[in-house]
Amino acid sequence: MIDTAPDLERLRGGAPPRNHDARTIAALTSNPGCARRGVLDAAGVDKDAVARELGFPAPFGQSQFAITRGNAFEAQVKADGGAELLALLRDHLGLDVPEVAYDDLEVVAGDEGRELRHSRTRRLIARALETGAGTLFDHPLLRLEIAGSPAYLEPDVIAFQLAGRLHVIEIKSFAVVDGQAEPEQVAAAARQAAVYVLALRRLVAELGHDPERVSHEVILVCPENFSNRPTATPIDVRPQLAVLGRQLARLTRVDELLAELPDDLTFEPGATLAASVRTVKARYAPECISGCEMALFCRDEARACGETGALGRSVRDDLGGIDTIGTALALADGSLAPSDDLAETAEQLRAASRLRAEALRGGV
Ligand code: SF4
Repeated sequence: MIDTAPDLERLRGGAPPRNHDARTIAALTSNPGCARRGVLDAAGVDKDAVARELGFPAPFGQSQFAITRGNAFEAQVKADGGAELLALLRDHLGLDVPEVAYDDLEVVAGDEGRELRHSRTRRLIARALETGAGTLFDHPLLRLEIAGSPAYLEPDVIAFQLAGRLHVIEIKSFAVVDGQAEPEQVAAAARQAAVYVLALRRLVAELGHDPERVSHEVILVCPENFSNRPTATPIDVRPQLAVLGRQLARLTRVDELLAELPDDLTFEPGATLAASVRTVKARYAPECISGCEMALFCRDEARACGETGALGRSVRDDLGGIDTIGTALALADGSLAPSDDLAETAEQLRAASRLRAEALRGGV
């Protein structure tokens, strides 16, 4: 096996690797085709610091108001040993939960150490799988290998055990109005929940049990109709699990990613940082704005180069093989002759251009 540690350290400019958490791991699945993100994440580079150094600080982060509201809602749902949550599971989802035990794994005997908490999580999950003991495990501390390094997952979910099967419960503070929630927020929650399902499955496998004993159906708990009343919705995260598995496997093959890079490449702060980042090809899409710290830098670059991805992932996919807006326009107005593989796309572009011109004439 190739020892990639010295190369990864050089890429980080000697800085310690940045730890992943569920949010950053979930974000890996939102743009799996991006080599830039793949390299930065595999090396454990602090993308937030790199983006700030480049003058394009990350465009996201929750407001203090949203954090406070989220914490209050979570505390309400979990109060009294999860009483409200259990009522939801029984009534809303029709689950037959006979008797209830609630274990909070956030602190072990006054110690918040991650190793200690992780080993208690292991112990209680092992007992639940073997004897069916325990119902709600709040703040389980799970672990996943990311590019060869262990990542501890921020414990903001509950593992729920019923009849020897474990479910992940994710509590979010965005509202479900008339049975509908913002699709982007649901998709982000599903990606994040899939990280927990995967980590829990790996733990279950390590404990010698069938990983399928962790359900692919997660339970999303949100406030309903602008009130604080919680509602529960089951979500199937199999598609997210499939993407996550592929993406993590790709990060594990870090030696292949490194082989394509110059031997002296480093993301150390300094005058050459922007050029170093540009060495690794990005795959910008507007969706990056909500999921990757590098988004503003990559958007600026994509716009400057006139990349089709800057118009949206669907546009880039529709124009497969055409990298820039300038090339698409030239093919559409016939000033550029298409290569054989672009002949069909060029024909469609010319047709679209004709239709547009006719519509504009009709409008006049
Ligand atoms: S913002 Fe840039 S680095 Fe991040 S996923 Fe998008 S294209 Fe890749």
